[in-house]
Amino acid sequence: MAAGFVVNDTGVDTLTIEDALKHYFGYESFRPLQREIAEAALAGSDVLALLPTGGGKSLCYQLPALLQPGLTLVISPLIALMKDQVDALTANGIAATYLNSSIGGEVAAERLAALDRGEYKLLYVAPERALMPGFLASLARWNVQRLAIDEAHCVSEWGHDFRPEYRRLAALRRQYPHLPAIALTATATDRVRDDIERFLELRDPQRFVASFNRPNLRYSVFEKREASAQLLAWCKARSNESGIVYVQSRNSAEDLAARLTASGIQARPYHAGLAPRERARNQELFIRDEIRVICATIAFGMGIDKPNVRYVVHYDVPKTIEGYYQETGRAGRDGLPSECALFFSGGDAAKQRHFIRQIEDDREREQAERLLREMLGLASTPHCRRAHVLQYFGEPVETLECGNCDNCLQPPERIDGTIAAQKLLSCVYRIRSRGFSTGEQHVIDVLTGRETEKVVAWGHTDLSTFGIGTEFSRDAWQAFISELLRMGCLEKDPERRTLVLTEEGLRALKEQRPFEFAKPRVVARAKSKRGKGAAIAATPLDERAFEALRGVRKRLADEQGVPPYVVFSDATLREMAAQKPDSLTALRSISGVGDVKLERYGDIFLRALREVVD
Ligand code: ADP
Ligand code: ZN
Repeated sequence: MAAGFVVNDTGVDTLTIEDALKHYFGYESFRPLQREIAEAALAGSDVLALLPTGGGKSLCYQLPALLQPGLTLVISPLIALMKDQVDALTANGIAATYLNSSIGGEVAAERLAALDRGEYKLLYVAPERALMPGFLASLARWNVQRLAIDEAHCVSEWGHDFRPEYRRLAALRRQYPHLPAIALTATATDRVRDDIERFLELRDPQRFVASFNRPNLRYSVFEKREASAQLLAWCKARSNESGIVYVQSRNSAEDLAARLTASGIQARPYHAGLAPRERARNQELFIRDEIRVICATIAFGMGIDKPNVRYVVHYDVPKTIEGYYQETGRAGRDGLPSECALFFSGGDAAKQRHFIRQIEDDREREQAERLLREMLGLASTPHCRRAHVLQYFGEPVETLECGNCDNCLQPPERIDGTIAAQKLLSCVYRIRSRGFSTGEQHVIDVLTGRETEKVVAWGHTDLSTFGIGTEFSRDAWQAFISELLRMGCLEKDPERRTLVLTEEGLRALKEQRPFEFAKPRVVARAKSKRGKGAAIAATPLDERAFEALRGVRKRLADEQGVPPYVVFSDATLREMAAQKPDSLTALRSISGVGDVKLERYGDIFLRALREVVD
């Protein structure tokens, strides 16, 4: 074995926490707070750990589990994820298993026997199982020494995923009062935090709250024009990468997935209207890198741990910043640069506002309006988007320019839109006051002086606003309409798609209110230049090496029936491709190469690298 030491279950204190990090997981350094959390847990405290998605929560309880004798019981809400979690541990040579309804009686019996023999360090179960009387009794026999509660926000009704069973875990705590507990979540609101401490009966817990900044994520907003063509261009420019496209409706999920696939990007839909079997299959294809893109409604998310999602596109504007942050957070868990693109138009904003107006309950409606207003503020700010998001969550920001969002990389051009706004608003006003209802295109026709059939037939050539807007292109007028919709000066009737001047618009017109518009940004066709937080620029040779390594990884993963990331993460393959190690010793210094993987895969990957370099 390449490693110089073997870890046993009795005298593990020879291994420092850093040694364990490298030996088992192959990592050179801790992510923020990982060490502090693991050390607090090792010292026997109850711990509450709030880390963002991708913050590396698993290591926080896995390291203590490995460094001390006995079994760690891990409570995890998603049966579908347990297998992947356990596969990932097993690939690192860690003795872990799970018990749930997906395994047959025979397999379960084997695992129970192995638990009786004390062969595992970690056991994953759902809360329901942990509370079964027989199971509770077995825990003592299995020498359980620690309790880890993943996705601990499930205990709270204030979270986004309340599971009543989580509340009952208090019973387990009472029956085994000596077990220290570590509760982990990515949901950081105070109410959720209080609920976790209260309902899980944490005793004088040490609390750790990491920054929710995700520096490797690049946030951008693009003016949404011909949205599906923009999406195709976006995905094509990243055809080798995995991405999630969030949409509002099941129909768009289906439609976009079909279009992407037709143009050569393998994509599948994911939404609550699909049969569970098909949903699970589409997710599986995505996790295994068989397809590139998932077009999903918000039903997609918690069940996915795929670390190499390189981009998240919001095809429709989310209803809240919370939702936006959660969904974009699924990009770049492996820490590599990843992109979050929001396609946004004033028309979408108006559509959302229209839906919200239908909410009957006053309080609920006002709440929804407030949340949407915040989201629209983020979508249209000319300032740093990251600072905006972090401030929204009440986190103090060190700098107001992150260097890795569209506004920081390329400050938006502002133009004086006062005259344009007046022309537009009064044109809509005049057309309506003559008793016509009008769509965007017709308004633009009148402004730019086009004598279309309709303009002539309706006599709109003699409106005072006819032909007064020739200084701007149709595209520019479209963008101004979009801004005025966003600001609530215009409304769009969603059924008839006609423009209406609002009270607000009328007031603006009367007051001759000054307007400033952002020059619209249309979607980037190719991959934009990398900014801060980006990887070292890849050379063509690195790129070839990466592709070759990716091929080897996929083959190994398929042979073992595991997702590719279980073999090595993209981050690890990228580093290999850049460093081109030529010996096992050199390979071991790469982040993500632990001793078991070194022994198991080292030669295979070294050979693949040699072939590319030669
Ligand atoms: P979370 O549950 O907080 O979203 P995970 O525990 O799934 O995060 O970790 C996210 C990814 O980061 C995984 O691929 C994991 O292997 C990797 N990771 C965790 N800790 C480190 C570290 N210290 N160095 C490098 N990669 C890490
Ligand atoms: Zn920024």
